[in-house]
Amino acid sequence: MEFNLNTMIRPHLAGVKSYQTLRDFFLNQKVVFLDANENPFGDFNRYPDGDPIQLKKKLAEINLAKTENLFLGNGSDELIDLTMRIFCEPAKDSIMIMNPSFVMYEIYAKMNNLQVEKLQLNSDFELEKGKFLDTISKSQAKVLFLCTPNNPTGNSIDDLEFYIQNFNGIVVVDEAYIEFSPEDSAVKLLNKYPNLIVLKTLSKAFGMAGLRIGVGFASPEIANLFIQLKPPYNISSESQKLALEQLNQVEEIQNNIGFILEEKKKLKKGLDQINGVVKIYPSDANFFLIEFKDAQLIYQKLLDKNILTSLRHPSLKNCLRISVGTAQENSELLKVLSEIN
Ligand code: PMP
Repeated sequence: MEFNLNTMIRPHLAGVKSYQTLRDFFLNQKVVFLDANENPFGDFNRYPDGDPIQLKKKLAEINLAKTENLFLGNGSDELIDLTMRIFCEPAKDSIMIMNPSFVMYEIYAKMNNLQVEKLQLNSDFELEKGKFLDTISKSQAKVLFLCTPNNPTGNSIDDLEFYIQNFNGIVVVDEAYIEFSPEDSAVKLLNKYPNLIVLKTLSKAFGMAGLRIGVGFASPEIANLFIQLKPPYNISSESQKLALEQLNQVEEIQNNIGFILEEKKKLKKGLDQINGVVKIYPSDANFFLIEFKDAQLIYQKLLDKNILTSLRHPSLKNCLRISVGTAQENSELLKVLSEIN
């Protein structure tokens, strides 16, 4: 599929000059900062780096990418929103999403006044190639959002490349949960597909949801667009510093992922024994989508025991999405569930 980035960008953005931090030009020079109306006093008085190069280098190394492919957001949520704002014209363009999938795609589309076209997943929550080809042949969608492993269903997309290859527009592959999954990241496909954007986050497997760091990967041209058009200081200095410290302890992060996956296996065995459970959907993520005989009742009973689960997706009747917690949290969950029966 022939891809021309210039025809993808919203036309009025082509000439927009972003906010330029003056001190970016004097990074290696000791200068007195009287340029940004900061307060000269205090522990957090200086603005953070606008383009956190140290953090990007570390993330590039971990993800086997180049720094010029990377751009950062205040959570990958911000990058989802920016994708729409860069490529889609309000009141004119549409995006395409899987249904069910991560709810924020639709929420941001509404905020940006974009139409949403939905690719209905089959009863195993899989994309079907024929249906996909048929849908896109009638569609003008500018951006396709694919989520793998998918939230809230937990499964991965089979033959992801097929969908990237055949879509005539930008394809965002949201890999928020990929580190829990046995599948390869789509980052390695960047050289092959100039229309590809891969989104990752430090909120899940890396255990840093509180720092709000989302990581985007794309061609240097697309990465540059995001860097130019993002809010000026979107990653706080504390987040940059703490994330780097944590990423330098990769072993601990990997151990925690291993632990979560072990716990996930045990949790699955425990859930298999629970009477009200109708189906536990296969998951490559750190949560299970579970169908109950009466999900509303289970949700409330768990809440009565101070356990909060997720009963939210409009198209998933009688399903709860439950995250894998600590060993103690998981056994408490199983205990309460078995008592409900
Ligand atoms: N994508 C998916 C699929 C998610 O589940 C989430 C968070 N629940 C996000 C993106 C956003 O993550 P964050 O903004 O914390 O990086």
